[in-house]
Amino acid sequence: MAKINQNVVILGTGGTIAGTAASSADHTGYTAAQIGVEQLMSAIAGLPAALQGRGLITEQVAQIDSKDMDFATMARLATRCAHWLSREEVSAVVVTHGTDTLEETAWFLQCVLPAQLLAAKPVVLTCAMRPATSSEADGPRNVCDAVRVALSAQARGVLAVCAGDVHSALQVQKVHSHALNAFSSGDAGPIAQVVGESVVFNALQEAIYKENLAAGQWNIAGAAIKYIVSTVHWPRVELLLNHSQASGAVVHALLADSAQPVRGLVVAGTGNGSLSVDLEHALVDAQSHGVRVLRASRCAWGGVSATVNDRLPGTTLSAVKARVQMVLELLHDTELSPAPEN
Ligand code: ASP
Repeated sequence: MAKINQNVVILGTGGTIAGTAASSADHTGYTAAQIGVEQLMSAIAGLPAALQGRGLITEQVAQIDSKDMDFATMARLATRCAHWLSREEVSAVVVTHGTDTLEETAWFLQCVLPAQLLAAKPVVLTCAMRPATSSEADGPRNVCDAVRVALSAQARGVLAVCAGDVHSALQVQKVHSHALNAFSSGDAGPIAQVVGESVVFNALQEAIYKENLAAGQWNIAGAAIKYIVSTVHWPRVELLLNHSQASGAVVHALLADSAQPVRGLVVAGTGNGSLSVDLEHALVDAQSHGVRVLRASRCAWGGVSATVNDRLPGTTLSAVKARVQMVLELLHDTELSPAPEN
């Protein structure tokens, strides 16, 4: 009989961590998502030690370069995470993922996985900047670190592990195109660090994170797994950028595209979410025609704080996470909301 909490589940989705190159000296000219998760794990010498006697279950959920991630795949992943987290014999779920859109998937999981599951067990995403065939591959250490984090007593919620740093889904952002330590939590700093075989949490950050988690702070009410898994038509939300001489032309072109109507627009504004006069005008007009509009900041950190002059709402989330959240909110508000009772 399976023992309680005696297994770690590793779900593979592809990425550079599963990538191959023609030569072991080639760290950059590779093809992502080539090696299956089972084979990948069997080649990691340090994994049995990191598992500390736990069993390992692997499952291939997808095999893609994460630049091609989509909501259907994220929904499938969320379903598998929920399935495994709810099993008594499973301690934690680790997800191998490409670095490019890892923060979007992490935020999606944080928003849709039931708060009570995440308050009890963690989902830890990990990745690599070099392919599995590299003589200096970083994937094996990241996987071992992720497993140690997943098994640490404090780990809860959706976390991301790369180069020894542990980030919360809320904070994590890819900030470097080729450094091995490609992720940052900005001003907050990592929520924890892996030091040798230990995982050292930042007590203050951990406390704030768990408080939000326990309150179901990030759950999109109603955008539950059982609904999203059957979603075929995801609301179309596009991402725009303010810049010098930005015009409203892109907004007008998007609104004129009737093939799949735009339901929402997230704009990465300059500084505190500011927009050129023309772009703001076009977005206010879009909002008045029923398109949901939200201003994020194109600055890496700080987000948008409200001011008395705002004509459009702002968010402290990064633009890409704000887009994920808006898709889920639109899905909930318009497609999933229960029909009124008579
Ligand atoms: N393009 C790859 C991906 O995101 C990059 C990586 O994993 O580092 O799948």
